[in-house]
Amino acid sequence: MITPANPSRQWRGVIEEYRDLLDLPPDTAAVTLREGGTPLVHSHWLSGLSGAEVWLKVEGDNPTCSFKDRGMTTAISLAVHEGAKAVVCASTGNTSASMAAYAARAGLTPLVLVPEGKIAAGKMAQAILHGAQIIMVRGNFDHCLTMAKELSWSYPVALVNSVNPARLEGQKTAAFEIVDFLGDAPDYHLLPVGNAGNIAAYWLGYTQYADLGRATKRPVMRGFQAAGAAPLVTGEPFPDPETKATAIRIGNPASWKLAEAARDESGGRFAAVTDEQILSAQRDLASRDGVFVEPASAAGIAGILQELAQGESYAGRRVVITVTGHGLKDTATALEAFGELVDVVVDADVEAAARAAGLA
Ligand SMILES: *Cc1c(COP(=O)(O)O)cnc(C)c1O
Repeated sequence: MITPANPSRQWRGVIEEYRDLLDLPPDTAAVTLREGGTPLVHSHWLSGLSGAEVWLKVEGDNPTCSFKDRGMTTAISLAVHEGAKAVVCASTGNTSASMAAYAARAGLTPLVLVPEGKIAAGKMAQAILHGAQIIMVRGNFDHCLTMAKELSWSYPVALVNSVNPARLEGQKTAAFEIVDFLGDAPDYHLLPVGNAGNIAAYWLGYTQYADLGRATKRPVMRGFQAAGAAPLVTGEPFPDPETKATAIRIGNPASWKLAEAARDESGGRFAAVTDEQILSAQRDLASRDGVFVEPASAAGIAGILQELAQGESYAGRRVVITVTGHGLKDTATALEAFGELVDVVVDADVEAAARAAGLA
């Protein structure tokens, strides 16, 4: 490989940045797209509303535009280290997009199981272009995950869903980055929850940093699920989860126990938000803070808005909200609330444009 003149001028990806803190065999070569190192963006809008210091961890700024890349670099690197030739995952879209990209770099064959008709077009395009073999299943994500696990038991394919502990090792680096940037853990951490790997990974990361003395505390964890797919809120699996936030359309989260442990150990909680709240939070975040996220990613934003409306106070506290994936992944859902997109059409004439814009 060619050595650049100033390699330290570019973020190296989560394995090389945090290798000594990750539970990976030390000689594991990194399969990386330089994931992680995502911005923590101050939310003027939510800070103003709440009187808190609110930061957005913008995970759409990863190579395949969701946080899944953090766990995929570790899972695929380990799969290669262990001699795998093929990898499989069940996915609501982003895991398959990420797995396909990292498998392409590593020369592995990617096999994807997705629920029929429920994958956003952008995510499907990613998986297809990166060369995944895609199998649509007449069923939901939970059915796909069961099938992916059983395939990995009976055939020579490595499972890279977040039940694979290597995924959480990579994903916990988001908590490291937050503490490294802020200088300590925040008071609260809010995020969307689907299969619950991410909340488990954040808790792992915050706990590790507190144990190492790199943070003086751990945040209160608050997870938000879609009302139509809220098993951690009700305590019961949802046999037919339904929500427009397809990335969290999961009825029986694989990391259920770890998510409950994160809640209990942090004094946190889970709550549900409706699709209407999610989509309205998505639009407000885009138009007020300039951050365009996919619907599921707005669940934490909808969550803090709901809590503020219910009289909860975050005043004077430091809050981080993870926005998990990029808005361009699913433009169809984003635009549903808008009718005719642009109905102002003028001749190629400055005065006509000025009149139409109300300037003249
Ligand atoms: C995967 C995903 C989630 C849910 O994360 P879990 O680890 O399954 O709880 C939320 N938002 C987006 C954009 C995702 O891709």
